[in-house]
Amino acid sequence: MTAGPDLDAPVLVIYTGGTLGMVPGPRGLTPGRDIEARLRRALAALPPARQASLPAFEVLETDRPIDSSSATPGDWQALAALVARHYRRHAGIVILHGTDTLAWTAASLAFQLQGIDRPVILTGAMRPLEAEGSDATANVEDALRFAVMPRLQEVALCFAGRLLRGCRSRKWQTQDAAAFDSPNFAALGERVDTEVVLYPGRGLADHQRGAPRFELPDYAPLSAGGVVRLALWPGLQAWQVEAWLDDERVRGAVLEVWGGGNLPEDPALAGVLARASGEGKLLAALSQCPHGAVAFGGYAAGQGLKDAGVLSAEDMTPEATFAKLIHLLAQPLEERERRRRFLTPLVGER
Ligand code: ASP
Repeated sequence: MTAGPDLDAPVLVIYTGGTLGMVPGPRGLTPGRDIEARLRRALAALPPARQASLPAFEVLETDRPIDSSSATPGDWQALAALVARHYRRHAGIVILHGTDTLAWTAASLAFQLQGIDRPVILTGAMRPLEAEGSDATANVEDALRFAVMPRLQEVALCFAGRLLRGCRSRKWQTQDAAAFDSPNFAALGERVDTEVVLYPGRGLADHQRGAPRFELPDYAPLSAGGVVRLALWPGLQAWQVEAWLDDERVRGAVLEVWGGGNLPEDPALAGVLARASGEGKLLAALSQCPHGAVAFGGYAAGQGLKDAGVLSAEDMTPEATFAKLIHLLAQPLEERERRRRFLTPLVGER
């Protein structure tokens, strides 16, 4: 057993880039540097009582802050390694990240940092720290407050006054400050007036007791397109799916099917999926509907998925499904065990 977090230890803030820290450049907003001084300046503008009650924090800036639209599974791996290296000396971790792929990174960290015994909170902003009316300071303030709550023992996403499970969240708005949602799982906490409130009954803490058992496999072999994401459209042809799945570099796929789990009734398409599964590729189906789960077998049109050995992602997000496939394929597991783990909730993702 680890001793658990020292609640007086400073929070570690890791800056990876994103709009929050961006500054205007000749071609548009670009990741800025010197985030610590800029953050402290922004937080110093809060009312004195709120400033005084903020937890102490230290800041670590990655070597090359990026626009998260360029993030890859390799970046997820590097970030998990950074957290694993530093977390013991901190009450909790706050990660500043671009919003575009924030939910993807959050899901991946949840799988890599399984069993984490303290808060790891990702946040960002829709407008840069120094922009008028920016949401950045409020998001950082809330994230820092959640980051010292010992009952929060998982990877979460804090945005616009709500704390969401990382592997359940999705970017939902392109402009609105309330940019994230968690369509199939209730919020873990929220800001009420100036206080942040945690709803521990929804957290992972109670069934994740014990020493952290991080899994930090090498994602490099999968980073160059090992898992693909394919959404059905009316008129989709078997040869189009075949063109992707037959490539030996592809080892897994997220299939976004109709409604409750249906596929066009096309034997050629079912054949392509069955062949890919038979070759040991991990195929997972989820619904194109943002709410609710897939359950194969309700309609004849869904039988093709089941017969082809496609796994049900139930109510998982596409982000979590993709990150979980990468995570499972990166480990030296028997195919049966991979399939079993995919169907098992590991970090409250399903
Ligand atoms: N393109 C930005 C990013 O994801 C968007 C943002 O941070 O809001 O890094």
